[in-house]
Amino acid sequence: MAGASVKVAVRVRPFNSREMGRDSKCIIQMTGNTTTIVNPKQPKETPKSFSFDYSYWSHTTPEDINYASQKQVYQDIGEEMLQHAFEGYNVCIFAYGQTGAGKSYTMMGRQEKDQQGIIPQLCEDLFSRINDTTNDNMSYSVEVSYMEIYCERVRDLLNPKNKGNLRVREHPLLGPYVEDLSKLAVTSYNDIQDLMDSGNKARTVAATNMNETSSRSHAVFNIIFTQKRHDAETDVTTEKVSKISLVDLAGSERADSTGAKGTRLKEGANINKSLTTLGKVISALAEMNKKKKKTDFIPYRDSVLTWLLRENLGGNSRTAMVAALSPADINYDETLSTLRYADRAKQIRCNAVINEDPNNKLIRELKDEVARLRDLLYAQGLGDIIDMGMSPSSSLSALSSRAASVSSLHERIMFAPGSEEAIERLKETEKIIAELNETWEEKLRRTEAIRMEREALLAEMGVAMREDGGTLGVFSPKKTPHLVNLNEDPLMSECLLYYIKDGITRVGREDAERRQDIVLSGHFIKEEHCIFRSNTKAGGEVVVTLEPCEGADTYVNGKKVMEPSVLRSGNRIIMGKSHVFRFNHPEQARQERERTPCAETPAEPVDWAFAQRELLEKQGIDMKQEMEQRLQELEDQYRKEREEANYLLEQQRLVGGAHILLLIWFIRAMLVTVKAQTGVESLLYSPLGPDPVLHLGLNQELPLLWWVPRSAAPRSSHLRCQETLSLHPILR
Ligand code: ADP
Ligand code: MG
Repeated sequence: MAGASVKVAVRVRPFNSREMGRDSKCIIQMTGNTTTIVNPKQPKETPKSFSFDYSYWSHTTPEDINYASQKQVYQDIGEEMLQHAFEGYNVCIFAYGQTGAGKSYTMMGRQEKDQQGIIPQLCEDLFSRINDTTNDNMSYSVEVSYMEIYCERVRDLLNPKNKGNLRVREHPLLGPYVEDLSKLAVTSYNDIQDLMDSGNKARTVAATNMNETSSRSHAVFNIIFTQKRHDAETDVTTEKVSKISLVDLAGSERADSTGAKGTRLKEGANINKSLTTLGKVISALAEMNKKKKKTDFIPYRDSVLTWLLRENLGGNSRTAMVAALSPADINYDETLSTLRYADRAKQIRCNAVINEDPNNKLIRELKDEVARLRDLLYAQGLGDIIDMGMSPSSSLSALSSRAASVSSLHERIMFAPGSEEAIERLKETEKIIAELNETWEEKLRRTEAIRMEREALLAEMGVAMREDGGTLGVFSPKKTPHLVNLNEDPLMSECLLYYIKDGITRVGREDAERRQDIVLSGHFIKEEHCIFRSNTKAGGEVVVTLEPCEGADTYVNGKKVMEPSVLRSGNRIIMGKSHVFRFNHPEQARQERERTPCAETPAEPVDWAFAQRELLEKQGIDMKQEMEQRLQELEDQYRKEREEANYLLEQQRLVGGAHILLLIWFIRAMLVTVKAQTGVESLLYSPLGPDPVLHLGLNQELPLLWWVPRSAAPRSSHLRCQETLSLHPILR
């Protein structure tokens, strides 16, 4: 199909409490598709205007006829993209904008009625369309993955076993992908909701423990949607596969170092490579379209995010972007930069194609690839290694232990150029084939097993369960006193709940001698951090007391607790320097409401910002600053690790280069011998890795060496090895 432009929408949110407190002015106006921004520093200057596919005015309330609701945004963008997914195209929606501008609200939204964002609405719609299908010849399957990219590292949010950093690989047939990222089978909207929820919980736990902020990481939610059509007459089944990528990007204030104020942002700009590269990719693609040139270099490979989203940015995808805007004058520079960014994205064109029967074709090609790699290894005399039964998971060292001796295996691999890579590629390809061949039932079983692990892990940490044993969703116990987490990011706030049981509830680290009921980790959490005691008084009243442990920092309402103190419902509790909770005592709260029925609701929500201000005022501890400092250390460490890894890679390349030189020298000698003995000019192909082959031959008197692309080389590596073998008798 012809190229389609990236759909671009901008959306402006209401003032937040900070902006209202500062008496901010709204500098954004919208009429039709046009968005105008006024420079508060130069009010006389002509306002700058931009036009987009959609300009969403969400600055006021639903009573305003111009107000763009969550539903409206979904109907314009989500529905269209879902339709494309049903047609068999890849689709992508990503949200861009500064922290707090409304990206997550637009993508995820809140759980209350009419507050759900694009992702939940799209998933719900996907399943209602599937369930409404009356055509018996159609069948559908849906799988999801959810990952976070932080500091160029990929974290699987759905599988607790996948700790830390997943590898981003490139397969010649599959393109870039995340190795071992779990793709879980879902059969209903409820399943997806549960997965999103548990993914958000995993993200919250990790972020709190590491003292990270979500504003620096990207969240990528993928849905793989497969539609099978069975033709009863011919008994042929055809398949359409669409990948739906829904991306909530890191805050853009770190994207652009120009105009950044101070070193803190500049450092941030360096480290959020994914976001800076995204900007460069979008600019390069926009520029390319302007010049109608096809050959420009696009730096997709420079970051994990752009590498994984390569197809969605200017490739095989229908893509939409929502740029979230703050309305306030104080954010003018950032908002203008977001508008310019969105304006560039408008110029990108993608060439989406319907993905028809991609899996069959892919499996065929992957099998060919396996055969080719096996031939290649056989030709190099390494057949016994693959015959030893190389399972996709077996590592080279595991193979070595089964080979005659480690050193001999390594030596043999060393002298067979490219074989290490070929073995690695063979393992990778077989793993992908196994994954593609997994039956739906196997997928469901695997999904269930991972779900149980996930729940067990949360339960171990003391995260409260519902009556049915689940830990998912927002639920509020009617009686039991509990702690609820508070986070700077509203999406991560109040999603973890911990019960304070009758008697003693201990809080501490996993590695404490005594088992802890609530397990936290992080820099400032002690093995045994504090104890909650819950006692029922004679009148039936439940009283909860907090006892600090020695050397551990615990604060209640901003004050450090030195001795046991009785808690009241609504108290803020901070442990260490990043774990922030609100204590809820439902019975007590109810009684208080009964006693003073007309008590006014507090002017300000008791949220993370409230707790952090309190701590700053009373103790002079700035949690945000602590976090910045810690993040800087962490990011420096990641950067160092990356530099080291790059250095190692470079070294390996050099060693690899030495291999090739050795080989050239060896083959030259061989060819000269051939010529001397037979007087015939000979050709010898030595396969070096999967793509280019090293092509050697005698031309006149001189041995020649050049790279031949695979398409120009003989198709079968078998042929190549036969040619090689036919030289053997002469050489011997
Ligand atoms: P981001 O993800 O860009 O950092 P959020 O989506 O978390 O920002 O939004 C910050 C706050 O503003 C949240 O409390 C969110 O609920 C609120 N908000 C954002 N956009 C809107 C909107 N269009 N209408 C109402 N509230 C909004
Ligand atoms: Mg967000």
